[in-house]
Amino acid sequence: MNHPVFTPSVSIPSARLAETDPELSCLLAAETARQRDKIRLIASENYASAAVREACSSHLTNQYSEGYPGARYYEGQQIVDQVERLAIARAKELFGAEHVNVQPYSGSPANLAVYLAFLKPGETVLAMRLAHGGHLTHGSKVSITGKHWNVVQYGLDPETKRLDYDAIRALALEHRPKLLIAGHSAYPRQIDFAAFRAIADEVGSLLMVDMAHFAGLVAAGAHPSPVPFADVVTTTTHKSLRGPRGAMILCRAEHAAKIDKAVFPGLQGGPHNAITAAIAVALKEALQPDFAEYGRQCVANARALAERLIEHGFDIVTGGTDNHLVLVDLRSKGIAGKPLAAALDRAGLVANYNSVPWDDRPPQDPSGLRLGTPSMTTRGFREGEFRQVADWIAGIVASGLDEDVIARISAEALALASSFPMP
Ligand SMILES: *Cc1c(COP(=O)(O)O)cnc(C)c1O
Repeated sequence: MNHPVFTPSVSIPSARLAETDPELSCLLAAETARQRDKIRLIASENYASAAVREACSSHLTNQYSEGYPGARYYEGQQIVDQVERLAIARAKELFGAEHVNVQPYSGSPANLAVYLAFLKPGETVLAMRLAHGGHLTHGSKVSITGKHWNVVQYGLDPETKRLDYDAIRALALEHRPKLLIAGHSAYPRQIDFAAFRAIADEVGSLLMVDMAHFAGLVAAGAHPSPVPFADVVTTTTHKSLRGPRGAMILCRAEHAAKIDKAVFPGLQGGPHNAITAAIAVALKEALQPDFAEYGRQCVANARALAERLIEHGFDIVTGGTDNHLVLVDLRSKGIAGKPLAAALDRAGLVANYNSVPWDDRPPQDPSGLRLGTPSMTTRGFREGEFRQVADWIAGIVASGLDEDVIARISAEALALASSFPMP
């Protein structure tokens, strides 16, 4: 009997990206250069390590794994089960959590999974108002969370611009939420998790903390941990935690089955296995002693930035910061956030315009600027470099966004960025 000789009828592309798709390859090279040459100050961004990026592009991207380790709907899970278990074990160790789900595709689906796990449509949630620093997924009207659930929102104290726990308690007593959410995207202070726990216990609600922004600081010991207080903690993995774009849900053991069922099959299909591997790598990095130093430095840098901006006469929301972000209220400077952010970008300083509490301008053209320290702390910036950044921002504002000043600063910013290589 003659055995046929296998000749593939379709050739499998083996060339690298630059040969297969030079157009796209050029775009990626340009983005790498942009991240290298600019001073990146977006509070939700970072630089993942080469090891994390390598795991993201591994062959795990080829594989389907619906289900959980030891309970999958596909064969061929011998290796990926170990990968996912490693990621889970490291997350438990790092945060002291009883149960961890590493499969959510990103922060927004992680939060939606918590709603799905505990709430029927129309039930009541109490969460922070977007305009005061909350997140879209905390019940904003434009988010599915605000359309399918009855979300009551708390804000800040008008005087101190800080969380007002008495006011939150009063709202909780009035509305009896099934779920109380703490966490933010633009609040420059620590949260009193014990106070939130007490409110949740008093009204019989579940407490979820969304630590997407400050998870890296928690891992580093530079911010109190919500894990001992919350029923459920959600987090992205790509912000201050410095991993791949993804998310995790940490919860008490009693909620494990509900959370896992909500993520899969409730909301998602197969997990992104390469990302799971990259999360495992990032968690290993976060368990090293130098990560604690990074977290401490993120906070020290944010304080130095805020203090110098105050010396330049800027109005900083709450008068300072105790985390990785600084919120600048530009109203006293007579300039809006959007034109300033655009001018800063031309000067090589990348930030985002942001609403400030009780903003009289619309969210698409607000009065504030949000600045964050994680990215440049990862590249080695310390207080001195962040004071320099504050001086440049002040110079650009004082010049009335003069293009000659912007051009001079862009050359100086490029020179500074060049001496702090990116991973
Ligand atoms: C960034 C963020 C999210 C959403 O994360 P995505 O990955 O962008 O979906 C959720 N909650 C908070 C508080 C965030 O800051």
